[in-house]
Amino acid sequence: MKTILVAGGAGYIGSHMVALLAERGIDTVVVDNLRTGHWQAAKGARKLYVGDLRDAAFLDQVFSENDIDGVINFAAYSLVGESVTNPLKYYGNNVAGSQSMLTAMKEHSVHKIVFSSTAATYGEPEKQPIEETDRTDPTNPYGASKLAIEGMLKWCDNAYGIHYVALRYFNAAGSNPDAGIGEDHDPESHLIPLVMKTALGQRSHIGIFGDDYPTADGTCIRDYIHVRDLVEAHLLALEHLEKTGESGIFNLGSGDGYSVKEIIDTARKITGRPIPAVVEPRRAGDPSVLIASNQKAAAVLGWKPTRGLEEIISDAWAWHSSHPNGYEG
Ligand code: UDP
Repeated sequence: MKTILVAGGAGYIGSHMVALLAERGIDTVVVDNLRTGHWQAAKGARKLYVGDLRDAAFLDQVFSENDIDGVINFAAYSLVGESVTNPLKYYGNNVAGSQSMLTAMKEHSVHKIVFSSTAATYGEPEKQPIEETDRTDPTNPYGASKLAIEGMLKWCDNAYGIHYVALRYFNAAGSNPDAGIGEDHDPESHLIPLVMKTALGQRSHIGIFGDDYPTADGTCIRDYIHVRDLVEAHLLALEHLEKTGESGIFNLGSGDGYSVKEIIDTARKITGRPIPAVVEPRRAGDPSVLIASNQKAAAVLGWKPTRGLEEIISDAWAWHSSHPNGYEG
């Protein structure tokens, strides 16, 4: 039986990947150290192996016990602010974890990997929408660690024939209400889940980080992409690698931008809750606008996101209102 290995499959995006693979009847095993993930989130997998990617003997066991056909690697730390104060934690986990995974793949002759990269590889963008050929100059160690891994993938393809697709995510959001999974970070720092917690009355207000940006309403514009659209691209990427063996880097975004105020207004409409908002100082390092060009993913992978902002927010609301304390209840 051919199996897909999902590293970080108990995390937010990884668990949505596992649910999609289960929906498609694809055999899946997960490795996750459960430092930030939740075992309940990986239910769709045949087996959850709890351990760290940097543990070579552990990975060797996983590859020996299963007929792994391809790897999807979500396992990473992803807090931008923390990466600035503790860069070695990010290089140590993200870069060394991927290095260990690639080593196991090489030893077990597995030749396909889909890797979660990030729009943070671009840093301050040169232009909008951002294309994959634009300059990459990360402004934090999180983005730098992902860019370093993209480099490692390129050279491992060259030397060992491990083909890869690196997917640069813009702002992943939403949930899969049918699978009973959603976003549960501790601490939570992302806008949409914080807006949902404010709607639930768990926070007194949502802070708007700056309203003096050069945008129509003065608040930052981001490209929010439904997590279910996002994971569909990974499956297309695996199929692309299977068919062509051609490695590549792709943006995953909707191509549309929404301001912080537009997100809050849409959430007020969908939840019917007041959601008090207070303007606060800018957050360091936030570019004013980040919007993806998704032309390359459309042309090469045949990916077309189909879920808009209202569906993102109503699915996020379905998750948060039914799981006010995340996976704990
Ligand atoms: N943001 C905000 N208040 C919050 C959290 C985020 O105004 O409590 C803004 C943030 O400045 C950015 C946007 O919302 O412009 C999205 O931030 P998030 O942290 O969700 O994702 P990022 O774009 O940083 O990856």
